[in-house]
Amino acid sequence: MANPQECALHYRLGDTLPAPGTSLEVAPGVRWLRMGLPFALDHINLWMLRDEQEGRAGWTLVDCGIDNAATRALWEQVFASELQGLPVLRVVVTHMHPDHIGLAHWLCERWSTPERDCRLWISATDWNAARVASQTTTGFGGESAARFFARHGLVDESSLAQVRARGSYYASMVPAVPARYRRLMDGGVLQVRGRAWHCIAGYGHAPEHIALHCPELAVLISGDMVLPRISTNVSVIDLEPEASPLALYLRSIAQMLALPAQTLVLPSHGKPFTGLHARIAQLQQHHQERLAEVLLACAEAPHSAAELLMLMFKRPLDLHQTTFAMGEAIAHLHLLADEGRLLPVNGDDGVQRFRTAA
Ligand SMILES: [Zn+2]
Repeated sequence: MANPQECALHYRLGDTLPAPGTSLEVAPGVRWLRMGLPFALDHINLWMLRDEQEGRAGWTLVDCGIDNAATRALWEQVFASELQGLPVLRVVVTHMHPDHIGLAHWLCERWSTPERDCRLWISATDWNAARVASQTTTGFGGESAARFFARHGLVDESSLAQVRARGSYYASMVPAVPARYRRLMDGGVLQVRGRAWHCIAGYGHAPEHIALHCPELAVLISGDMVLPRISTNVSVIDLEPEASPLALYLRSIAQMLALPAQTLVLPSHGKPFTGLHARIAQLQQHHQERLAEVLLACAEAPHSAAELLMLMFKRPLDLHQTTFAMGEAIAHLHLLADEGRLLPVNGDDGVQRFRTAA
């Protein structure tokens, strides 16, 4: 949902964006790339860190873009004009979503040599989740997702038919995941040309998202955990139907308040900004307001996730948005149920609704 208080943030580069296939320096040795996405969210930011590994000069890439011809062509332009003749040494991926990991397999293969592997660095949880999801038989969508949404009140047959048909959605953007990787964990440190970048694990958006903080540069590569204009998607999905990701997400962003207020935040979507603490406070307030709305609605009558959509999102949604919104609504319901403020009620119609406790 768009941020109504965006003006509290400061965009350090104003409206300047890197042109397609080119990069822009945002901090010493840190360059910004922007690639298109075929969604309502129409772009992703990627980062290049000037690096040196085992005495070899080159680049560390952070995130990849989805696998399609347009993104590969943009990367080719970047290789030709932006690398100062140096190789890519490794590929860091913040999390397993297609826009972040899609081309990791291609980038790692392209920059590996007989002497030296260009390795993928990622959390173990997200590497495994990506490997599983990229196999069409075990991926997202399909019959299991349709059943899950139906249980939460999405009963419209044409929507369910479209969800069923989307079984290979992830694999279409992530056809392969590198077979080997190096594990990133919370508290780990990446040395990038003499500068330390600290790994910060975050939960609730992806299985185990890794953000990178460089204290010396006062820069945070926030991935999708903190975005300036839209709120991070926090969804329950059919593979983990009882999850409570909103509680995890709120805990994760609260921990980021320990970082200095003046940190330059490099988000995966939107523009680099300062105002990290203000943005975290806005996100906390946003979710508290949604939780209050859900609680109020369920006090009047038991509601399913589907019955909450118009109330929470206040606009008609297409199918792609509806599935995201359903996941978000369920995340809010589960947080309130975990706190004992709502109780699930299983209806005779097979739909799960929630009513206020006591
Ligand atoms: Zn994501």
